[in-house]
Amino acid sequence: MAPPHVLAFPFPAQGHINPMILLCRKLASMGFIITFINTRSRHEQEFKKSTALAYRFVSIPDDCLPKHRLGNNLQMFLNAMEGMKQDLEQLVTDMASDPRRPPVTCVLFDAFIGWSQEFCHNLGIARALLWTSSAACLLLCFHLPLLKHLLPAKGRKDIIDFMPGLPSFCASHLPSTLQHEDECDPGFELRIQRFERMKGDVWVFVNSFQEMEEAPLDAARDVNPNCIAVGPLHFDDTVEETQLSISPIEDTSCLEWLDKQAPSSVVYVSFGSVATISYSDAQQIYKGLANSGHAFLWVIRLDLLQGSDEQARNEFLARIQQNEKGLIISWAPQVKVLEHESVGAFLSHCGWNSTLESLSAGVPILCLPCFAEQVFNTAWVVDTLKVGVRIKKAMEAGIHASHVEDMVRFVMGRDHCSGDELRRRAKELRHAAKRNVQPNGSSHANLVNFAKALKLHCD
Ligand code: UDP
Repeated sequence: MAPPHVLAFPFPAQGHINPMILLCRKLASMGFIITFINTRSRHEQEFKKSTALAYRFVSIPDDCLPKHRLGNNLQMFLNAMEGMKQDLEQLVTDMASDPRRPPVTCVLFDAFIGWSQEFCHNLGIARALLWTSSAACLLLCFHLPLLKHLLPAKGRKDIIDFMPGLPSFCASHLPSTLQHEDECDPGFELRIQRFERMKGDVWVFVNSFQEMEEAPLDAARDVNPNCIAVGPLHFDDTVEETQLSISPIEDTSCLEWLDKQAPSSVVYVSFGSVATISYSDAQQIYKGLANSGHAFLWVIRLDLLQGSDEQARNEFLARIQQNEKGLIISWAPQVKVLEHESVGAFLSHCGWNSTLESLSAGVPILCLPCFAEQVFNTAWVVDTLKVGVRIKKAMEAGIHASHVEDMVRFVMGRDHCSGDELRRRAKELRHAAKRNVQPNGSSHANLVNFAKALKLHCD
């Protein structure tokens, strides 16, 4: 009997590709054949290609995708991705007559992609979805009609205390990606329909684990019993290192720099792969970090700073480089950085992958959310898990250096009423994360169940 062949189709953004590739790695270690779809421009530009037998990268044209940054244009990208449907269909059909591999058994779609149901139905193959954000956020999507009267929620102070599986929270924390402009916004109805297709019994993989999101995971399973926690996906001692790796070029020199620092003495700063910050906020962050007296490692992507010309940017970077306590790089081996014993805190935009990676490493978070679901994730980290603090940002005035300094001192502090307590709770989550991915852990067991179900489907 040929092993199941899974075709993975990610949403083309780093925070979606990373967990998809990690999930594929796990499935491959369980005997699945994997074909991973890249968009052509990424494939040609920056991907390391795998030669391992169980994996194959295939690229399909992406001329239909917008040429500008993803930023806040999620819906526009999703609409444009419909243009890739035909090529994907052709690929699956061609594979059915490829003697070198078994036909595709299941397409693993990023859950953002709304046409997966119809696609798999037409081709008569199984469908599974990867949800790359939190289970809490998934619940908001499942119950979106309940929130309709509160959207758009920007600036609203209503307390939402009626969502199954979620504690009370302020309406202004709702993700911007769920919002609609007005009652008649067709995009909003499309979103509702998209989330309806994640109900029923389709497999939905969530990159989370039980102790991280107990109540939301339980409530998500009430809606769809096949919503399963399989995380943290990046964190797995049981999977052998393979060549299946996709990311921009990492600057590993920072690991040697970290080796020279004292334990828990460094603040790691990163805003992920998409978010931007204003030049003036960046200056305040730098001043706050410098005044705190703590060492820091800061990822400043080429496109991170908005509102500065090239000269101002270069002068700013040069100023930081003169600071003996700071190091800037353009892309970090983030998981390794967070696992390094010198890192004491993570100043993060709170993208879900970064949040999970930080807490799985036992590192508390200085939360500075920018957009999408980052404000909502921050509320989970600060108010529910109590493993981080907020860096406040005034509407007009932006971030203030003295506040950054205070928060950094607080989290890096070693007395019992400050950082130590956050660190203790983060370490508990680290232990739980480790337990979950081990052979008797619940995230691992969930994947084994999926594998069994898919093998049955093949028989
Ligand atoms: N990342 C990385 N190096 C960096 C910055 C980010 O490897 O210098 C990775 C990070 O580990 C995470 C992903 O990029 O897996 C970012 O995903 P996240 O959900 O945190 O944020 P997004 O980029 O989607 O806003």
